Amino acid sequence: MTAAVAALVALGCVSAPDRPRSEGPGESETTATPEPDASGVGPDGTDTPEEFTTDIDSATSIAEAYWAAVFKDSGLRFRPVSQVIPYEREGEVDCGGQPLGLKNAAYCSAGDFIAYDVNWAFGAFRQIGDAFIFYLLGHEYAHAIQLRLGIQAQFTIQQELQADCMAGAYIGDMEKQKRLTLQEGDTEELAAGLESVGDAPGQPWFAEGSHGTAKQRTQAFANGYQDSLDPCNLT
Ligand SMILES: [Zn+2]
Repeated sequence: MTAAVAALVALGCVSAPDRPRSEGPGESETTATPEPDASGVGPDGTDTPEEFTTDIDSATSIAEAYWAAVFKDSGLRFRPVSQVIPYEREGEVDCGGQPLGLKNAAYCSAGDFIAYDVNWAFGAFRQIGDAFIFYLLGHEYAHAIQLRLGIQAQFTIQQELQADCMAGAYIGDMEKQKRLTLQEGDTEELAAGLESVGDAPGQPWFAEGSHGTAKQRTQAFANGYQDSLDPCNLT
């Protein structure tokens, strides 16, 4: 996936009142995650730490630009996520006092930041491909947007599938606007990525931490990708 971001929009911080933080401090992503593949090069040849860092930065800034425009169209003031933080050790970063674990990425509402295990994410980038990074950042950014919009779902799974739909809308819409270009293999990478983050069979859908089966997550992402935010039910 390539990003056509010649000039990044400089998004000033706008102040917004703190929202009540009734949800848990950390929003935990998948546990069924790809192991880093020691054999190296991903399907589309992206494998260097430099490419990885560039993709993390691009995915973040394009998500920021996407939501800034959506908020503007709705007459809302937009505040970007404060930070995107890589970490290497368990507990190196904490969210409201709760240490973030390995093989994970999370949006932390308490500090308004996204954090990710850099070795895990780099392994997924090499094994699945660069499109996974755009999905991952899109999904975590969506949780920040949910908080900004005051969306509270009854079950975790509803919030998670909505975030997948929003990630799909971000990638699909930015592709339509020529801000992102999907290359050969990216669609397969997205499918493989969604497959890898699906709940294990037997996980009860109503359980705390449920994200949805691979099929549900793939469908939610596809809905947003094809039809933008309408199917995501943000209002
Ligand atoms: Zn999530």
